[in-house]
Amino acid sequence: MLDPREAAAWSLTLVRLYPRLSADDSPLDDSPFEPAAGPEAPHGIILSRMRILLSNDDGYFAPGLAALAEGLGSIGEITVVAPERDRSGASNSLTLDRPLMLSRAPNGFRYVNGTPTDCVHMAVTGLLDFEPDVIVSGINSGSNMGDDTLYSGTVAAATEGYLLGIPSIAVSLVGQEFRHFATAARIARDLVERLARAPFGAPVLLNVNVPDVPYEALRGVEVTRLGRRHKAQPVVAGKNPRGETVYWVGAAGPAREAGPGTDFHALERGAVSVTPLQVDLTHASQIPLVSGWISQ
Ligand code: MN
Repeated sequence: MLDPREAAAWSLTLVRLYPRLSADDSPLDDSPFEPAAGPEAPHGIILSRMRILLSNDDGYFAPGLAALAEGLGSIGEITVVAPERDRSGASNSLTLDRPLMLSRAPNGFRYVNGTPTDCVHMAVTGLLDFEPDVIVSGINSGSNMGDDTLYSGTVAAATEGYLLGIPSIAVSLVGQEFRHFATAARIARDLVERLARAPFGAPVLLNVNVPDVPYEALRGVEVTRLGRRHKAQPVVAGKNPRGETVYWVGAAGPAREAGPGTDFHALERGAVSVTPLQVDLTHASQIPLVSGWISQ
């Protein structure tokens, strides 16, 4: 747990970062962030009590995380616990072979020398003296569709929240230039507001991919299933300065199953994709097959 003095300092930092949280609502000159633009949240009393934990896999300094904090700062109390460096591709990994350290960035964000899963796990199971109402991970620089979800640290941070019983949302921006984080932040705000207004009624883990376009240019929101990719590109070999062979993991494969109803298809037509995920890897339909095979 944070000691009370540290917690007080932390709250003060958040008020300084997100002036709308402060009682007198007076903007502070040295705040590195402007309060989020856009309309005031409806039902402010309920929404202002929302406690939102943010994380990501691109690192605490990533522009997508700042955009998310700014976008959600108008509707809730923001706490950020994110990895100290880019841990994209970390999947659902916990660090068990060394101690983890919590640090504080000048903007109030907390960061950990661990994985996205470590961050959410630490925050929820020991760091915070409250349970977040919702966890949002992102905004990732790049898509997390189809098979990507198995490798993604962005999805993993949200999955950890889900496993700990908290509604969780992973948000990724799909494109090459990443110019419209604000679009994805607004989608995240829409979804969190919706969760506050209309609780889902079941454990929920949403994987959200947003086209990198202005909000007005989005072509709707589609609830989808995951598509599939072709096999990944081969590893790429090269030489390091000492003449030793080194390898880079190759690019993800192109979309293979990308028909109507998939996340790939939604993005292809310029819509936001929202895929509900689950964690049970059991291949239930193969249980009879394996039972027959194993008893031969
Ligand atoms: Mn990433």
